[in-house]
Amino acid sequence: MLGFAGTREWVEAQSVTGTFTTIRRWTFFALHLILFATPWIPVGGHPAILVDLPHRQVFAFGSVFTAADTIFLLIMLLFLAFSLFFFTSLLGRLWCGYACPQTVFLEAWIRPIEQWIEGDRSRRLHRGRGGLSFDLAWRRVVKWLAFALVAVVVSMAFVSYFAGARELWMGQGGPVEYTIVAILSGVFFLDFAWFREQFCNYLCPYARFQGALTDNETIQVTYFPVRGEPRGGKTAAADGRCIECNKCVVVCPQGIDIRNGFQLECIACSRCIDACHGVMEQLGHPSLVGYSSMAEMQGGKRPRFLRPRTLAYAALLVGLVVSGVAMARGRVPFEVTVNRTPGSLYTMDADGAVRNTFLLKVTSNESAPGAVTYAVRVEGLADAEVIVPEFSLQSSESHTAPLVIRLPATATLSRTIPFRVLVSAPSGEVTVEATFKTGASDGRE
Ligand code: SF4
Ligand code: SF4
Repeated sequence: MLGFAGTREWVEAQSVTGTFTTIRRWTFFALHLILFATPWIPVGGHPAILVDLPHRQVFAFGSVFTAADTIFLLIMLLFLAFSLFFFTSLLGRLWCGYACPQTVFLEAWIRPIEQWIEGDRSRRLHRGRGGLSFDLAWRRVVKWLAFALVAVVVSMAFVSYFAGARELWMGQGGPVEYTIVAILSGVFFLDFAWFREQFCNYLCPYARFQGALTDNETIQVTYFPVRGEPRGGKTAAADGRCIECNKCVVVCPQGIDIRNGFQLECIACSRCIDACHGVMEQLGHPSLVGYSSMAEMQGGKRPRFLRPRTLAYAALLVGLVVSGVAMARGRVPFEVTVNRTPGSLYTMDADGAVRNTFLLKVTSNESAPGAVTYAVRVEGLADAEVIVPEFSLQSSESHTAPLVIRLPATATLSRTIPFRVLVSAPSGEVTVEATFKTGASDGRE
């Protein structure tokens, strides 16, 4: 089939077993558990994680974040980015091989389904060479239907984080949500059925800049030429050299030969390690493919984990965590705005007092269930009479109340008097600056 670059050779990866394959399977299981279960776990009356875009709120493990908390989003994104840099500088493309959704879904669902319906690699190749037949056609159709089902399930899991899992899976989501599921499903299906490794090779930005994140001491999947070369020959098996069985090549989902050295296409999935280990173990020798660093390969030097680069990334991560925690501790879970009511700046009451009227808006982001009562007071206006109705809010509720402030006729007043509105609840206090307007009885501004 013609590929993205016009020269694609279809990769039919052979299945493999081994230590790293087992580790990856358990990792995939844990990641699936997190992906599918998180939107169903209630914390504080909301899903553990829910991104409510229409209301511009994010519910995360009992806390409610709004547009005013964008700084936390920035810190989280920086933390994720530097975590990726940190682990890449230490262990290469660990993310690609063990946790990237592309790898996880292909390895956990798509390749096993393909193997189950169309047989192992040699059968698939044999059938493909035979041209179009009924046997090939029905297997392809069933396989693609299965891929489509996986694509829909995976899309539903992702959209659950935005639309609410219960509503979406019970058929109570809106047309927008299901349209997004349909579009995502189409994209996933295209990826599963055709695009596959081309995504890593041509579209993934991480693959492009990983070279800048690694150095000579980064641990990567490597072929050991010192032990493996020269390849082949009658004594290769006895010597522990490469016997050119090609196992490490046919299991590679990227269609590359690890014996040609480090390649950008390698996603560090470690399938070739398990393949070579299976071969060499039977011959009584260690695997010729494994985890190592360039420094170790060239000079036998053990890689150092504490290097300027890794220490710098670690320091940045610690800094981000500390600042995030400090900001979270000082965060007050409600928002307050005070705006002057439209119309005249001030009015004179019958008793001669000056009256200013404001609109006080309070939005609750409290994580705990139950109503919270808010107290309002002002500072900076001597002898002020403050009139505001008492109100309570549930989490995520908003309330706008008139805030009337009267200053007695006897007071000496400036034209503009700055003051503060303080709104308090058991979870904290918010202060908003405002100004009181008068007719300036003393003529001052
Ligand atoms: S070369 Fe090995 S580690 Fe790299 S993608 Fe291929 S099988 Fe995975
Ligand atoms: S699996 Fe090992 S022995 Fe076989 S070709 Fe690859 S490196 Fe050589």
